[in-house]
Amino acid sequence: MTDELNRLVENWVRPEILALRAYHVQPAQGMVKLDAMENPYTWPDELRDAWAALLRDTDVNRYPDPTARVLSERLKEAMQVPADMRVLLGNGSDELIQMIAMSLSGPSRSVLSVDPGFVMYRMIATFCGMRYVGAPLNAQDFSLDLPALLQAMDEHQPAVVFLAYPNNPTGNLYDAKAVEEIIRAAPGLVVIDEAYAPFTDATFMSRLGEFDNLLVMRTVSKMGLAGLRLGLLAGPAAWIDQFDKVRLPYNINVLTQASADFALRHKAVFDEQTEAIRRERGRLAAALREIDGLQVFPSEANFLLVRTPKGQAVDWFTGLRDRGVLVKNLDGAHPLLDDCLRPTVGTPAESDKLITEMQAVAKAI
Ligand SMILES: *Cc1c(COP(=O)(O)O)cnc(C)c1O
Repeated sequence: MTDELNRLVENWVRPEILALRAYHVQPAQGMVKLDAMENPYTWPDELRDAWAALLRDTDVNRYPDPTARVLSERLKEAMQVPADMRVLLGNGSDELIQMIAMSLSGPSRSVLSVDPGFVMYRMIATFCGMRYVGAPLNAQDFSLDLPALLQAMDEHQPAVVFLAYPNNPTGNLYDAKAVEEIIRAAPGLVVIDEAYAPFTDATFMSRLGEFDNLLVMRTVSKMGLAGLRLGLLAGPAAWIDQFDKVRLPYNINVLTQASADFALRHKAVFDEQTEAIRRERGRLAAALREIDGLQVFPSEANFLLVRTPKGQAVDWFTGLRDRGVLVKNLDGAHPLLDDCLRPTVGTPAESDKLITEMQAVAKAI
């Protein structure tokens, strides 16, 4: 029976899906959770009460506004989308990546990004039957290898190029002039993924409209609303109107529309939190650099990329985990990430715990 069932499944599920491993999320019960780039701060009590009152008056028996008109306007204002640009909302920016890929896919179509980069570009390309091409970053500092990228674009003629700016998991910004050169040379679309916009001053948002093939993507996840699942794609109406056709109706649910609109009306609270995280990033990086053997890369995001001595990443990762601190182990994810861990920047207390336990692990190894 089981064999028969397995044969049936293997007969019908696409081979590229059978070959995938499902996205793995580590158990984090009772741990200091520094593995997923979440904002550690919760909301002040008055805000929670006002939010709860709003939700009490929100009707869930009705379908949501299909175009999320009020929230779209609020987001345009909060994220300084140029007035003449259109926006499309997604159930997380992951869904927007999927809408783009579904709209552009075809047997000879490819998605290009850089490696090491955000894994969802590759995964979603695979889901949608597109080829994924990863151009390697420079090993030294994870900057763009512009000649290699231009060569890869020339060879593969990608339908879309995704660039996370700052990049995940390396945390750095690319040279803006190099990005501009990529936009100019790309045969198709270029999506600048600004998931970490709250933690940097650099942005391509104000450059929308300057290039026919440029779109900018944002999310509210890293600013402190990861649980709501809400992302935004901004750009010329000609592109956005096409992608809107593959959007499932009502993709932004009633609770998310009400809650995100509410939160953005109190954006100052979140700006203060992200400011605190930016300050904490500098302190944490400096403290970790003091620990023997650790290399800490510069970051414009809410996480740090940390390289342990050769061959030790698993020991550091499990050492931290046994001491109650969960970080992301990137060793093995890509050759340029050998021996690397990625802790999120949390509260000062969480940083203190991470620093103390890193020091303890350093002694124990
Ligand atoms: C976290 C992250 C996202 C995912 O955002 P969601 O809106 O939570 O789906 C997108 N891009 C990059 C580069 C990220 O790091």
